[in-house]
Amino acid sequence: MLLLPDYRVRQRDLLLDIIRAMTAQLDLGEVLRLVLNASVAMLAGRGVGFVALRNPATEEYNIRAILNIDSEKLPELEKQLAELVAGVSEGLDFNDLEQNLQQMADLIDPELRQLFPMPLVMAGEPVGLLLVFRDYVGVTTPNDLQILKSFADQAAIAVHNAQLYERVNRERQRLDAFVRHSADGVMILDVNRNILMFNPALERMTAWSAADAIGTVEESVIVWQSVQPTSLHDSMLAGWPHDENETLYVEGDITRLDGVALSIAITYSPLYATDGRLINIIANIRDITNFRRAQEMQNVFISGVSHELKTPVALIKGYAGTLRREDATWDPQVIRDGLVVIEDEADRLTELIEDLLAASKLQARQMQMNLADVRLDVLANRAVERFQVQSERHHFKLAFPPDFPVIQGDETHLRRVFDNLLSNAVKYSPAGGTIEVGGYASDDAVTAYVRDEGVGISLDEQAHIFERFYRVDGALSRKTQGTGLGLYLTQAIIEAHQGTIRVESKPGEGSTFYFTLPR
Ligand code: ADP
Repeated sequence: MLLLPDYRVRQRDLLLDIIRAMTAQLDLGEVLRLVLNASVAMLAGRGVGFVALRNPATEEYNIRAILNIDSEKLPELEKQLAELVAGVSEGLDFNDLEQNLQQMADLIDPELRQLFPMPLVMAGEPVGLLLVFRDYVGVTTPNDLQILKSFADQAAIAVHNAQLYERVNRERQRLDAFVRHSADGVMILDVNRNILMFNPALERMTAWSAADAIGTVEESVIVWQSVQPTSLHDSMLAGWPHDENETLYVEGDITRLDGVALSIAITYSPLYATDGRLINIIANIRDITNFRRAQEMQNVFISGVSHELKTPVALIKGYAGTLRREDATWDPQVIRDGLVVIEDEADRLTELIEDLLAASKLQARQMQMNLADVRLDVLANRAVERFQVQSERHHFKLAFPPDFPVIQGDETHLRRVFDNLLSNAVKYSPAGGTIEVGGYASDDAVTAYVRDEGVGISLDEQAHIFERFYRVDGALSRKTQGTGLGLYLTQAIIEAHQGTIRVESKPGEGSTFYFTLPR
């Protein structure tokens, strides 16, 4: 082989070019082309070659860079390459596979004479193959081969870097998607609590835009009105965190950017660098407003239920105690009245317990339906008869058209619907007035309503009255007994019938509850 006098300088320059391209972070294709050109230039003559890379997932080799090869021949070449590689993976040397190599050379160009296969290996793992050909047989010195090998090594490093970069990129995309779509608020802070990342859920929670929040210090965005145990700022002043396992949990009420109050809980996790320096704090934020409200409602409910249970029990005990006094004789009318109260109060207890049971069953989704023919006008009539005897202040009126259609429903459940609506109509019109129960039918549904002239319900409250345990906070409801279960159960029964329930009401003017059931 006739070498140029300055060939060593040339080889060094070529290697430098490759390394420069790699550090300039050119894309992988570019680096592979450079390696291929350098290898061919090294061998002099009319150089031909390709670089194939191994797909780690499928273990197949794909040609990624070519020089002086007709691209139409690539499919056939890849097929032959697969055979060659299979031989190598069975432990054969390239020298043993000379036939395969020659076959490939013939396919590319019958003039090709000499081949130089250079496996690309990284950390003992094959990552690809560099194959260069030459159209004459010349002498190659160990130094030439050494240089070729160092080109191949550079290519292997470039491939490895590209694969690492791709993996890191993929991980980052995955993490980004996770944070972006998380229902929880997520933010990343630096050690001075400046916000570096702010996800969309947190934008919705705090009314801050990510663009404004990023770069702002945490305590300007999370403005606590009250916080347990202490804010991040105070906790850090007190020495938090001591190590990477020490997360910080705080909860309390904040004022959002738009002035709205919100209950949130935040878990802060410290992130350390390998050298033990704290580098970031990752905060996970949850809106606990509903949870808090549910807790409050539960408390109100428990005191409401205890009160409801105590009243009839106290009455029953009082009357029973009075009636059995041995030092007194009661005339039969007094005894009968006393027994009526005892019976009524026992009924009330039973009803309350049934409501509680129904509510807990509902939560376990176990409502049983016994469907049969039901006439709502008849049910309404009976319910009104029951209530009429209880209240003299209210005037009851029935307004159903004749021949009201029969529907399929559960009579016991629907009876409770009228009872609940009528009992509310009476309870929440303390001044009396007319209570009208009526209905109308269309081709595919029937609607019944209960209308009163009572205290009414504000629009805000209308949004909540069907919630479990919800009671309007007002002087009247504090005075009247109730558990906040009635409308919840009523709605559940209607929905179990595929129906809907709604309310129309104006404070001070009364309310009308409508429910519609399919025919
Ligand atoms: P309870 O009556 O046991 O409190 P409900 O679930 O039946 O529970 O009703 C929830 C709340 O809705 C009541 O506390 C009351 O404030 C309001 N409400 C229900 N019905 C009426 C009505 N007809 N008029 C005014 N307010 C009503």
